[in-house]
Amino acid sequence: MADAKIKAKFKRDVENLLDMAQKTYTKDPKLADRYSYIAYRIILSKKLKLDRDKKVLICKKCTKILIPGKTASVRVSGGFVTYKCLNCSSVRRLRI
Ligand SMILES: [Zn+2]
Repeated sequence: MADAKIKAKFKRDVENLLDMAQKTYTKDPKLADRYSYIAYRIILSKKLKLDRDKKVLICKKCTKILIPGKTASVRVSGGFVTYKCLNCSSVRRLRI
């Protein structure tokens, strides 16, 4: 029981970090990348399962924040949504 509570707390923390990263990106991209890096480390160490809309916000390869139109390109084709990181050009495809 306690474990579920702790996981919920870390999930909230990660969501806050991603929110902050999105907001601060225009002012301070380096700080935003730091936030997303910390969020990614928490996800890995606590084995968190994020919601789909939150999951696509971090690049799995370079751990930078993915903002459509700024740091990521988003395409829809053939029943898939493709997110491409503009920093390391890693691609992530999700079924619609
Ligand atoms: Zn990347």
